[in-house]
Amino acid sequence: MRHSFLDVGFTYRSLKADLDAAHARVMDSGIYIGGPELEQFEQAFARACGASHCVGLGNGLEALVLPLRARGIGPGDEVIVPAHTFIATWLAVAQTGAVPVPVDADPATMNLDPALVEAAITERTRAILPVHLYGAPVSMAPLRRLATAHGLFLLEDAAQAHGGQEDGRTVGNLGDAAGFSFYPGKNLGAFGDGGALVTNDGDLAERVRMLANYGARQKYHHDLAGGNSRLDPLQAAFLNVKLRALPGWTQRRQDIAARYLDRLADVPGLRLPAVAEGTTPVWHLFVIRHPQRDALMKALEASGVPAALHYPVPNHHSGAFRDSHGHLSFPVTEAICATCLSLPIGPHLSLEDAEDIAARVTGAVRGLSA
Ligand SMILES: *Cc1c(COP(=O)(O)O)cnc(C)c1O
Repeated sequence: MRHSFLDVGFTYRSLKADLDAAHARVMDSGIYIGGPELEQFEQAFARACGASHCVGLGNGLEALVLPLRARGIGPGDEVIVPAHTFIATWLAVAQTGAVPVPVDADPATMNLDPALVEAAITERTRAILPVHLYGAPVSMAPLRRLATAHGLFLLEDAAQAHGGQEDGRTVGNLGDAAGFSFYPGKNLGAFGDGGALVTNDGDLAERVRMLANYGARQKYHHDLAGGNSRLDPLQAAFLNVKLRALPGWTQRRQDIAARYLDRLADVPGLRLPAVAEGTTPVWHLFVIRHPQRDALMKALEASGVPAALHYPVPNHHSGAFRDSHGHLSFPVTEAICATCLSLPIGPHLSLEDAEDIAARVTGAVRGLSA
């Protein structure tokens, strides 16, 4: 039997009646931009994050670009980012005209190493943009201290971490603001593109809402040079349905991760993900490391376990940033990219599947060293 890495269709099949009803309701309403379905989702998602404002946006990238723009960040400014992240984090900064200043990863958690951030702060630094990578919250307390001490905007890239927690506080409510993605494969995904800004700062929320809607607070009164980045009411209606299922899906991810951590603990050569103290990850991805990564991936593939790479090329070596950042070196990030391998995880898998995958991984690793 072959397992699947990701199955977005599962989320539709398991909520089909409610999603079809939501679809019909929006289609019948005649309202296809804005409106009550969107407002309902914004309120529900803000509440789920323990924050006071949510602004639905076109995608997760814009959910990072717009708050930076709203804070006046642009050319001449620097924003601290993790060296190891999905490239959207860096591109969001670059889109504003500011320079992404990468900081290397903590080898245990693979998240940005908070201990390295202070040394990266210059007189041009305006913001810190930590990423809760793979669904594991970054240790935010040291970053909040630095942000306060240096007057920096602390924006969470929460695209992979819906519902994650640190010391009982939810992701989206751990900094000044957070950008979420509802890309279909994310823990909370739409059936198309979508994103949101979450914050307790009412002025910031208002500014981002304006920037996402041609700079207008009131139709045809354009006070800012904004653009267009709106979450459709159709996607919002779907997300309302899926948000109710999210706690159960997250629990399943956590149970699968616990199974993997237990069953794979003593497999020689395999390095398992560590979690920062006081944090509760939501396991968007389960990323292991092995020195013979490519051979292991092939062996897994042959045994019916599809694996994936997040991410194979460090951002500073990518075509997009080679010219500007290619001379830099981030040894931990480079090592992660060379050895990482993501195992299947998600609500489409049962605990029996997880058990079976763990056994096949164990077999594949043992086969390598034989
Ligand atoms: C997915 C993702 C984004 C961008 O989200 P989109 O909705 O695809 O634009 C940003 N940052 C991280 C870490 C992501 O995983």
